[in-house]
Amino acid sequence: MEMPQPNLDILAKKSVVVAALLKVMARDAVIDDPSETRAYECDALTAYKCAPMIVVLPTSTQEVSDVLKICQGHGVPVVPRGAGTSLAGGALPTADCVILGIAKMNNVLETDYDNRLIRVQSGRTNLSVSGAVEEEDFFYAPDPSSQLACVIAGNIAMNSGGAHCLKYGVTTNNLLGVKLVMMNGEIVDIGGGHLDAGGLDLLGVICGSEGQLGVVTEATLRILPKPEGARPVLIAFDSNQVAGSCVADIIKAGVLPVAIEFMDRPIIEICENFAKAGYPECEALLIVEVEGSEAEIQDQMDRINVIAQKHNPVEIRQSQSAAESEAIWLGRKSAFGAVGQVADYMCLDGTIPVSALSEVLRRIEELSQQYGLRVGNVFHAGDGNMHPLIMYDANKDGDLALCEAMGADVLRLCVEVGGCLTGEHGVGIEKRDLMETQYSAGDLEIQMAIKDVFDPSWLLNPAKVFPLAVSQSRTAA
Ligand SMILES: Cc1cc2nc3c(=O)[nH]c(=O)nc-3n(C[C@H](O)[C@H](O)[C@H](O)COP(=O)(O)OP(=O)(O)OC[C@H]3O[C@@H](n4cnc5c(N)ncnc54)[C@H](O)[C@@H]3O)c2cc1C
Repeated sequence: MEMPQPNLDILAKKSVVVAALLKVMARDAVIDDPSETRAYECDALTAYKCAPMIVVLPTSTQEVSDVLKICQGHGVPVVPRGAGTSLAGGALPTADCVILGIAKMNNVLETDYDNRLIRVQSGRTNLSVSGAVEEEDFFYAPDPSSQLACVIAGNIAMNSGGAHCLKYGVTTNNLLGVKLVMMNGEIVDIGGGHLDAGGLDLLGVICGSEGQLGVVTEATLRILPKPEGARPVLIAFDSNQVAGSCVADIIKAGVLPVAIEFMDRPIIEICENFAKAGYPECEALLIVEVEGSEAEIQDQMDRINVIAQKHNPVEIRQSQSAAESEAIWLGRKSAFGAVGQVADYMCLDGTIPVSALSEVLRRIEELSQQYGLRVGNVFHAGDGNMHPLIMYDANKDGDLALCEAMGADVLRLCVEVGGCLTGEHGVGIEKRDLMETQYSAGDLEIQMAIKDVFDPSWLLNPAKVFPLAVSQSRTAA
């Protein structure tokens, strides 16, 4: 994976830029000592590392604006950063950039239960948004597995999803407005405490824009009353393909569970060793969760049961208590951490039509054998959002390159069957060079023309999303 060479002119200006930043920010909010900037050298895509030139930790929208004006004035690239949990390298620095970390801006600014919304500073963690409204029995629906750490700004930038997004939608379906600081320091409000406004859907453009268009400092989010109850069922199968077909049948039947999660044998074994959730001996399992009143839950459970029985399951385990529900979710929720304990891994994030699940799982198995790399599949099956985890050895020469090549083949396969390169993790650097697999030159030109409007000097999060050769004429200018 190629990154641009650092601009030596910018590196030579470091002390001038630091001095300018210290005029608008406190000393402890500007980090320029290389031993400390190193803490920001990567995000959760740890295969790639590069310490930034400077890190700033603003505490207000005005400070963000001041920082961006200074950086624009000196031609310094800025990489916005939330919690740094991106699996696509979205927050990876370049050596000549300023990392703008939003995490200190984490206050709740307004809760409005009558209109079912909350306004927060964008450095607030995802889980603590729900935490702020749970006393009134409300919650914020998008639930990335990283929700304890990741922040709303990162969720908006990546249009993040989670296990329960099958029913509630991803971030874009739960976002009402943002305060955005443009690269020139201008502060704009887009959307607000109301449903869709007139005019162009700029909020839709900002959500998922990966820190390319501006820095989000505040967000207005939809909150929902908690459902009366929820219950998962675990369904075990003797092959990936049969489990995939069962998912397609559940969706086709029009049942709308809140979540349908898929785990294959390698993942089940690793999670079982790690979390001891008591999963059955099987090749693949689904965790299907439904919610509502007890009668609604039972009705959906019965319909799912009828569909599952047609696929000769090894076992169906309907939760009957809070403790059983917790046990069913335990292994799934610890999956990424558990795999991290046994191997280095790259987590892919392609989306496919649900009807293609069985076929794609079969071809991933073939690719795994072809490349000689172990793969585990754990993903949000209900919306076709695949997460093959390709395991490799970072200390073995050539293994990372092999893993990258296999990852590219898997993502090409997702596009080939009518899906797309990313479901919820974003493009970042990870899928940047595959964008031409999915988009024509004209498609990419339109996307880059939008960046031209928001960030004419291409200083915001450079080297991400667009293949370097494709964006070269703009970044060079
Ligand atoms: C164990 C694990 C599990 C995960 N599970 C899920 C999952 O279930 N679903 C899912 O969707 N993702 C998941 N992720 C990926 C990741 O958590 C999400 O992409 C998350 O939204 C990133 O948030 P962050 O705060 O860490 O952002 P960062 O990683 O810091 O940044 C992500 C992107 O946001 C941009 N950005 C950050 N702050 C701003 C800002 N203020 N304004 C504009 N742009 C900004 C950055 O430039 C970057 O492009 C997982 C990651 C891990 C490590």
